[in-house]
Amino acid sequence: MSDLWCKTCGKFKSSAGHTCPPKWQVWGEDLGGRDRDDALEVFAVDAEYAAQDAAEIDDAGGDYSIVSGSEVRVFVAKEGSDKIQQFIVSGESVPQYNANEISSEDIKLIDKMEKEGFRYDAHWGSFRGMNCQIKERELKKQLNEGKSLLEIIRGMPK
Ligand SMILES: [Zn+2]
Repeated sequence: MSDLWCKTCGKFKSSAGHTCPPKWQVWGEDLGGRDRDDALEVFAVDAEYAAQDAAEIDDAGGDYSIVSGSEVRVFVAKEGSDKIQQFIVSGESVPQYNANEISSEDIKLIDKMEKEGFRYDAHWGSFRGMNCQIKERELKKQLNEGKSLLEIIRGMPK
């Protein structure tokens, strides 16, 4: 942890100076534990953020059940305070996209295959046609063996 992050609360220290936010205890049947003694402790500006932070910590240490749709009921109290607030915490996952540049050699191959009615499926690393498919690796191997594209396509299992 660098000096930019507070060693106590883990929050970013602005150049204007830093005071740790209050410490909260967060617990619940599906988070931490059933009793306050089992609570997760987090530093947060308010009870709502405390509930969210605790859910994030708990989810990351477990099975990501909140982010995959579960809603959990949690109890939140400021350390040393008897005032208990309750929240239903839910989460959502954010779709992620990756773009990988294609080499010029592969572009030529993909263009040729598309002309033959195949689509390149980057996830499986294969070309898929109407009723057949071939792994990119297998296709390249057969091309290296001197077979023509048409020969390979005709020889593909249906
Ligand atoms: Zn701090």
